[in-house]
Amino acid sequence: NVSALSGVPEWLPDHLQEEGIEELYPPQAEAVDAGVTEGESLVASVPTASGKTLVAELAMCASVARGGKALYIVPLRALAGEKRTEFEAFEEYGLSVGVSTGNYESDGEWLATCDIIVATSEKVDSLVRNNAPWIDDLSCVVSDEVHLVDDGHRGPTLEVTLAKLRQRNPGLQVVALSATIGNPEILAEWLDAELVDSTWRPIDLKKGVHYGQAIHLEDGEQHELGVRDGEKPTAAIVRDTLDDGGSTLVFVNSRRNAEASARRLADTVESRLTDEERERLADVAAEIRDVSDTETSEDLASAVERGAAFHHAGLASDHRELVEDAFRERALKVVAATPTLAAGVNTPSRRVVVRDWRRYDGEAGGMKPLSVLEVHQMCGRAGRPGLDPYGESLLLANSHDELDELFDRYIWTEPEPVRSKLAAEPALRTHLLATVASGFASSRSGLLEFLDRTLYATQTDESGRLERVTDDMLDYLVVNDFLDRDGEELQATSLGHTVSRLYLDPMSAAEIVDGLRAADDRPSALGLFHLASRTPDMYELYLRSGDSEEYTMLAHERETELLGSVPSEFEDRWEDWLSALKTARMLEDWASELDEGEITDRYGIGPGDLRGKVDTAEWLLSAAERLAGELGLEWAPAVREARTRVQHGIQSELIDLAGVRGVGRKRARRLFETGIETRADLRNADKPVVLGALRGRRKTAENVLDNVGRADPSMEGIEPEGSVIVESG
Ligand code: ADP
Repeated sequence: NVSALSGVPEWLPDHLQEEGIEELYPPQAEAVDAGVTEGESLVASVPTASGKTLVAELAMCASVARGGKALYIVPLRALAGEKRTEFEAFEEYGLSVGVSTGNYESDGEWLATCDIIVATSEKVDSLVRNNAPWIDDLSCVVSDEVHLVDDGHRGPTLEVTLAKLRQRNPGLQVVALSATIGNPEILAEWLDAELVDSTWRPIDLKKGVHYGQAIHLEDGEQHELGVRDGEKPTAAIVRDTLDDGGSTLVFVNSRRNAEASARRLADTVESRLTDEERERLADVAAEIRDVSDTETSEDLASAVERGAAFHHAGLASDHRELVEDAFRERALKVVAATPTLAAGVNTPSRRVVVRDWRRYDGEAGGMKPLSVLEVHQMCGRAGRPGLDPYGESLLLANSHDELDELFDRYIWTEPEPVRSKLAAEPALRTHLLATVASGFASSRSGLLEFLDRTLYATQTDESGRLERVTDDMLDYLVVNDFLDRDGEELQATSLGHTVSRLYLDPMSAAEIVDGLRAADDRPSALGLFHLASRTPDMYELYLRSGDSEEYTMLAHERETELLGSVPSEFEDRWEDWLSALKTARMLEDWASELDEGEITDRYGIGPGDLRGKVDTAEWLLSAAERLAGELGLEWAPAVREARTRVQHGIQSELIDLAGVRGVGRKRARRLFETGIETRADLRNADKPVVLGALRGRRKTAENVLDNVGRADPSMEGIEPEGSVIVESG
């Protein structure tokens, strides 16, 4: 019983009971027995939805009660807000909670005052590199979804970050939460932690595969679905679940598919809604439209009105929350989601359908099967404790062979073991530089000693490999002037320090430095966008059929603008270079004030992808500006201009105006067209003109004038000049 918990603050048991938590789930009780409320490190490898968050909360609250400070590391930025909202429940008991997700290079000093801090592993890594003073005050660190150390891109950062935190802080309690994996013991060994390895679930789960007319469950049970003519299997399952009073969570492999699937499944749901449900959904739709007036918002709202929604990392967090709440209270009958957020969506439903078990993989250049671990995590969302007799999760097969394959691949199979990806070159290059620059090691042997604290070292049996790759990478860092080597001793150069603080892959920095040095004239925006796009820190757009020719032509037309030597068409890096050009061209369109919708159509991407590329370009160009300054190159102003243009999506003439808070690219353009071209103009402009340019929105106009420093921003009694069109998307 929770009232018998020891080591936790006095208020916690009552609080839990208020939340409806009377008894600990068995894995939670095991964690407490293992000493998690007494500062003991723990690896908890338990199924999805079995209450891992509570284990973390017990550890953090107990640690704070002993005078410490806790850090909760989330795998995705999108989840940080959600966790903060959960932990904010503790604020009434005097705990303060902060989130740190913003830019890579903020000092994070305000976080020093928080008891619980939520951050992504990248952010924590950056805070450690920048020597955030509060890092030394940490007493408890939670790593959520720690099995992601297996991820090729982001795993090494998590791995190194945990190793650094532990090196700096020998008594540190580490609570690592993992999905069920094949080798949780190795994580426990690595982290010197107790292990809770459990398959307990609060509700039974039956996994199965749908094929033809029937659902085949793992226990041998089959039931007929009665798929109608022309009906897709997913729609049939959703219909069948609805007839039984349940809801369905559908996992698909891309954002676009999530949106399309929600739209289609709404057709199935719509006619089965009660008037009351319709009314409730109309309210939710209105709230969704209130969040923003983008196309995505409209698409989401119109699906929600009909009882279905989509959910992916490209959604605003307010949107995600509205969807999750409406699904939890069962107004929404279907949510189509991408796997990215499977771990984060705490939205149990009667059934889960894993519609797509392959996903496009850019690096592999084709479709790749999902891992067993991922599929199990999605399946784990099925079943609402206390409400359903059991949860059911289904994969979909198109043939008898596929039926067998899916059983073999996902249902009879244990999740994969996790493996460290630290020895991959980009990861090691970045982390070696950072480890030296931030003072964790100052010699080759010190580095190797530090690396010995990583999962890689715990796990590898190939002796000498880490040492070999390390030596190669050290050579690279020395040759490119990021490190000075004197015998055994290593020291970061000032360039190396800058690169590490900027959080750049050293190879990106080397590319940028070479490109800027190669410029004879002031580089153009396209040239700089291309330079940023060809660094390994930018995910380039892929070339589709026909693109090669188009961009080869563009490369010839604008050759003089592109920085550095142009590779020949026969070189390996040509393809990459063209992809970078396509990406740069997209950024140029954006910075030429082309409509967002036109850009997403032209390049076949989603609005979230455009945002992502724009953010990355802005970050890389601000890094380039710093590097130009550091090296005394004269192009810093040109870089700054390109950076500002991409940041706001504007041409140069709008730079002054678009910097005013509340004035985006569209408003800046409309103001400019009425003759208001600068902040000074705006401060002195006629109010009716300003109001007309801002489409009669008084509140907006007042804010803008206030932000630009006008003494009397009031718009009371002012009528807009010119014809006012109501602002739309
Ligand atoms: P996980 O992180 O393991 O996927 P969560 O921590 O999100 O799972 O927990 C799933 C749900 O179970 C949450 O809604 C949580 O409030 C609830 N829960 C957790 N522990 C208990 C408990 N001991 N008793 C009742 N409900 C619980």
